Amino acid sequence: MTKGWKTRTKLVHQGIRRSQYGEMAEAIFLTQGFAYPDAESAEARFVQAGADEFIYARYGNPTTRMFEERIAGLEGTEDAFATASGMAAVNGALVSGLKAGDHVVSARALFGSCLYILEDVLGRFGVNVTFVDGEDLEQWKAAVKPETKLVFFESMSNPTLQLVDIKSVAEIAHAVGALVVVDNVFATPIFSRAVEQGADVVIYSTTKHIDGQGRALGGVICGTREHIRKVVEPYMKHTGGSMSPMTAWMHLHGLATLDLRCRAMADGALKIAKALESHDKISKVIYPGLESHPQHALAMEQLGVGGTLVAFEVKGGKDAAFRFLNALEIACISNNLGDAKTIATHPATTTHQRLPQDQKDALGISPGLIRFSVGIEDADDLVADLMQALEEV
Ligand SMILES: *Cc1c(COP(=O)(O)O)cnc(C)c1O
Repeated sequence: MTKGWKTRTKLVHQGIRRSQYGEMAEAIFLTQGFAYPDAESAEARFVQAGADEFIYARYGNPTTRMFEERIAGLEGTEDAFATASGMAAVNGALVSGLKAGDHVVSARALFGSCLYILEDVLGRFGVNVTFVDGEDLEQWKAAVKPETKLVFFESMSNPTLQLVDIKSVAEIAHAVGALVVVDNVFATPIFSRAVEQGADVVIYSTTKHIDGQGRALGGVICGTREHIRKVVEPYMKHTGGSMSPMTAWMHLHGLATLDLRCRAMADGALKIAKALESHDKISKVIYPGLESHPQHALAMEQLGVGGTLVAFEVKGGKDAAFRFLNALEIACISNNLGDAKTIATHPATTTHQRLPQDQKDALGISPGLIRFSVGIEDADDLVADLMQALEEV
């Protein structure tokens, strides 16, 4: 029934399951279990559950299933598995497909918790991980070996917004039969076409743009039906990282407005990046939508826009950055992103505080750097807020 539907139609309707009451809003099935009409049905369902049959909420739930079908429709994958957080999705996507002795190649610029899984957890279970600079294709070529089972990267990195060329890295990985797993949070499922470009498995922290209103933690793993149901689902459902029906319900309503919100955020981000580019208290603006970004052409090819975040460096280091942050009147100081509310983050002292100085330097996380997640407020108001806060620097 969804054939030919465009994104915004899918986001409102795809995957809906209506009960006998014909409710308009998707129902929350706040139940861990399901009663069977008779013992024979229970036996049959444990052998092979039908598409509308559920056993236990850790395995699946009608509300969660609606969310999985809607996000798979958006992503353009056959199936998806919803998880309790973005990290449950990253962990599930990596661990479910790996065993001791396997080799993994990963981009170095990673969300702190992703780095913990790749550096610490996988190593303890005998998986070898080689790290590369994600934007350097020569390093990917040198690192991927015949025994490489999986490659992993964030398609747009946090907080310095470097892009990985999905198509080229997928070609390198697929030449040896490695699975391409992409953490696509910053790119968003609205702008990215990661699967078309060669990703096999795409992961989101749905805590970010998909919830979009700072309410619930969640995650999702998207891929082929075979991979999701045969590899990912057994691992997730038996290790306990499934999404709750309450979260799935909130995220279904988040999806309905996701396209509108992401486009408003990206329009605002471009306006803000342009306004900051020539400001005399700013030493650097990083926004893939600006022609000055070294990967502008790749961003346009891969995403068509610059995304919903802007990073910039306030002249004068930490003191100046803090004075700027404390003077903001609309933007909140916080560390989420993709929220309806604009959020300003000082990575060096918060999200990336634990990194040793040499790694901060290598990743470009300077004392003056601000990560700015643009919300859906009026962009002119946001620019005015930035300008008045910069006056305080
Ligand atoms: C937030 C985030 C995660 C982790 O998601 P949670 O929902 O916080 O568990 C993973 N990767 C990236 C790129 C993120 O931004």
